[in-house]
Amino acid sequence: MSVTDTTQSLDRVLGGKSAGALKKAFGLTTVGELLRHYPRRYVARGELTDMGTLVDGDAVTILAEVVSVTSRPMQQRRGNLVEVVISDGTDRLSLTFFNQRWREGMFRAGRRGLFAGEVSSYRGKRQLAHPTFEFFAEDVDEDPEQIAMFAGAFIPVYPATASVSSLQIARAMGVVLDTLGELPESLPAGLRKAMGLIDVKSALLAVHRPTSQADIDQARQRLKFEEAFLLQTLLAQRRAEIAHLPARARVERDGPLVRELESNLPFTLTAGQIAVGAEIADDLAGDHPMHRLLQGDVGSGKTLVALKAMLSVVDSGGQAALLAPTEVLAAQHFRSITELLGSMAQGGMLGGHDRGTQVALVTGSMKVAQRRKDLLKIISGDAGIIVGTHALLTDTVKFRDLGLIVVDEQHRFGVEQRAALAAKAIDGTRPHVLVMTATPIPRTVAMTVFGDLDISTLEGLPEGRAGVTTHVVPMKEKPAHVDRAWERVREEVAGGHRVFVVCPRIGDDEGDEDLLELEIDDDTENKRQVASVLDTAEYLANGPLAGLRVGILHGRMSSDDKDAAMSAFANADSDPGIDVLVSTTVIEVGVDVPNATAMVVLDADRFGISQLHQLRGRVGRGKFPGLCLLLTQADAGSPARQRLDAVASTTDGFELARLDLAQRREGDVLGASQSGRRSSLKLLQVVSDVEVIQEARAAANMLISDDPNLDAHPDLRSALAELVAQDQAEFMEKA
Ligand code: ADP
Ligand code: MG
Repeated sequence: MSVTDTTQSLDRVLGGKSAGALKKAFGLTTVGELLRHYPRRYVARGELTDMGTLVDGDAVTILAEVVSVTSRPMQQRRGNLVEVVISDGTDRLSLTFFNQRWREGMFRAGRRGLFAGEVSSYRGKRQLAHPTFEFFAEDVDEDPEQIAMFAGAFIPVYPATASVSSLQIARAMGVVLDTLGELPESLPAGLRKAMGLIDVKSALLAVHRPTSQADIDQARQRLKFEEAFLLQTLLAQRRAEIAHLPARARVERDGPLVRELESNLPFTLTAGQIAVGAEIADDLAGDHPMHRLLQGDVGSGKTLVALKAMLSVVDSGGQAALLAPTEVLAAQHFRSITELLGSMAQGGMLGGHDRGTQVALVTGSMKVAQRRKDLLKIISGDAGIIVGTHALLTDTVKFRDLGLIVVDEQHRFGVEQRAALAAKAIDGTRPHVLVMTATPIPRTVAMTVFGDLDISTLEGLPEGRAGVTTHVVPMKEKPAHVDRAWERVREEVAGGHRVFVVCPRIGDDEGDEDLLELEIDDDTENKRQVASVLDTAEYLANGPLAGLRVGILHGRMSSDDKDAAMSAFANADSDPGIDVLVSTTVIEVGVDVPNATAMVVLDADRFGISQLHQLRGRVGRGKFPGLCLLLTQADAGSPARQRLDAVASTTDGFELARLDLAQRREGDVLGASQSGRRSSLKLLQVVSDVEVIQEARAAANMLISDDPNLDAHPDLRSALAELVAQDQAEFMEKA
């Protein structure tokens, strides 16, 4: 029997027991999935090792003779142990096999051969546990050719679990590889030739059974490109589909609302804002839906770019919606847009401008009566601008003529949301979509995660911004600096400014599942309670900050309370005002209080690099310089401290994003909600494999523009179908 169908079940090829174990440990069910379970690394057997120089942990290859073989039940646990003693004439060494009694018969005193494995010690005795070995032919003392072959080989080391070892995987792989027939080739022949890539079967054989480093390199090169190419082809197809959908062109660029906005702005647009604004306007004027990602560093002024686009859509007679990730941010956008539009925001109402419009706010926790009023304004078209949270995407929200959806500061904008957006299409005409990222992402990551979107990058920051200085405050080494930190807070407040204090937890005993986004690697101090909003606020108000007005903000407050806290903090002279706002990361993105000049982050090591960068983006936004203090108990030199030092050392968000991504595992980079791409990328590194991704993208674009349905490439088409099916299966599992 030969295997040519990679969708064949492992059950049939390996038998139920092995197949069951692989399924349980790794979710592998088909031949194809097993074949794509690539070795994590290889152990080169290397030169022959002298038995007198063994060191624990070394991978060695030894030429020796079998002295004795014994087998006995184990003392501490069930099972038996086969022990083989080998000798090179001077020293002796044990080979041990657990629960493999059948091995006993393989060894006979006097046989000579090669033994390879990792050196360990048991009760002071050196041993090789479960070594690989090969005997010379009977009566042969040494066979130079055999030695060269054996010692030169690479042993694959597979991702393994406690129940399924690398060796067991290698054995199962061996069975599959031995029966492998012709396999479908997903890479078009011309492309493969032009790129000098080996065919799929050779690549799979070489990746699992390499005989040289060159084998490994060639195999990985091909398989990596294949991953990039399949994904980019899928994305190219999606882009092509979107490009063919109808949308209404929104051409008014200089209507009354846009003009009103521009005349109300207390500043001029940056060159970057003008440039990306033009890109967006061009898209909006097209009769296919815009599908664009706008990225720019914290404070680069993305919101304004989006607002201008929204107003031009309203000027041209449509509606525009702005989707914010939190209620706090939705409320803030609502306030600032209403303010910027002045009398124009009262369109159709008494005293309103006759070419104005109304602004509606839709959040999940709004009162029913208010909500009903807003929904009416939306369906009637009286509200041209609609701001809201994800509540906007529910079925109850019906638009009259939705022309543009802007998704603000969202790094987790997944498949589900995209589907919900598509459903807002009216008469089959899709709204234009602009997605803005909270975190700047390197281009290749953007091409992978948001590969079906066009990308605009907003360069530069508005002038006249004082910026922010960041310091790490090591609490263990310099406890006095902590007191100094709170003194600085007092000074800022005395100067008429506002201060954020950020904590990793709420501390209301409800569990803080929404807060600790990033599970940090070093768990030395995980037992210690990290700072909470409630405890910290109480401590500060009665201790270091006694006499100041200390308020709190977190995600489990009612939206009225959240609103009240935000406006008490934002409006300097309000009563009751707030000087110091102790909060969770609800203020992470978008919150804009120009008078806030300082931020103290407690247990800062609990946050990721990009998150800290976002957080500190809340201060130093106005003409006053910002100060950010990162308090931490992490030890100097620890990975946690290095992250904080990195944040303190630069204010370049792109640079930090690269650092952040380099430290995460690939799966985390893509994020679960970015669908199953996590599982389809095994070898490809979205951060570092820039060239491969770019080449694959170019090749995919060319192919799809020639042959959008892949009629000439049935194998590629079915590989993509498999990818999508996997994608969806995984997505369903999560949902
Ligand atoms: P982000 O890109 O992080 O979303 P925002 O859009 O919130 O940044 O803008 C940050 C701040 O900069 C806001 O207070 C905004 O009013 C202000 N701003 C935007 N554009 C300019 C500009 N061209 N000149 C000066 N200030 C600007
Ligand atoms: Mg913003």
